[in-house]
Amino acid sequence: MSDEALLLERLTGIRRRIAAACDRAGRDPASVALMAVSKGHPASAVSTLAGIGQTLFGESKVQEAKAKIPGCPAVARWHMIGHLQTNKARDAVRLFSMIQSVDSLRLAQEIDAAAEKAAKTMPILLEVNVAGESSKFGYSPEKVLAEFMAINALRRLEIHGLMTIAPWGPATEKARAVFRRLAELRRRCEGVLGAPLPVLSMGMSGDFETAIEEGATLVRVGTSLFGERVYTRTGGVDEDP
Ligand SMILES: *Cc1c(COP(=O)(O)O)cnc(C)c1O
Repeated sequence: MSDEALLLERLTGIRRRIAAACDRAGRDPASVALMAVSKGHPASAVSTLAGIGQTLFGESKVQEAKAKIPGCPAVARWHMIGHLQTNKARDAVRLFSMIQSVDSLRLAQEIDAAAEKAAKTMPILLEVNVAGESSKFGYSPEKVLAEFMAINALRRLEIHGLMTIAPWGPATEKARAVFRRLAELRRRCEGVLGAPLPVLSMGMSGDFETAIEEGATLVRVGTSLFGERVYTRTGGVDEDP
């Protein structure tokens, strides 16, 4: 099978599974965006997917994104989903249309300053380490609530919602509990803000259907779409927890 046929088959399969999960949850499939996580895969794979209608992509390292994005079709939109160091904020503002991995006030301030310099407004998500895993980045739920309004006050940032990575493993019910807690935290943040937060970014290859059942509006799928990640000279694979 050609690369294009293979990617088309996988993309179609994932869209079908998204639709089925929406059906079970009584949700409109149009309410769930699919992000193709292209870390560890070349620009050629991105181009193929873009050619068959996939336009939202995610990268988890600035270095890799910087090397890859210029070689990809302009129709592709990019989100940063990996841990961001403050000294990379400027590059991130330039490369991405959303930063999903904001996990401290200090980082938010750096992104705000970089966006100010670039005369841009930067949509962001706050990353939450719901299960408190020491191997993962992200806010504790309490700290999100405590710092929410301080981040919201930064003029160049727009908080669109929350993001999380569920504990790895086959235990669906463990992931489900994490997704449910993120959905609940979104409601509490909406209460603090007094306005809706439209984005709940949760669910990856192993658990995106469960995430949709619990309210995900954006699922981030890498392996099930592109296959196993390969290491590249440009930085390769994210240090997955
Ligand atoms: C790598 C990654 C994904 C995709 O993971 P797969 O299991 O390959 O689908 C999703 N979200 C984040 C934050 C990631 O780092």
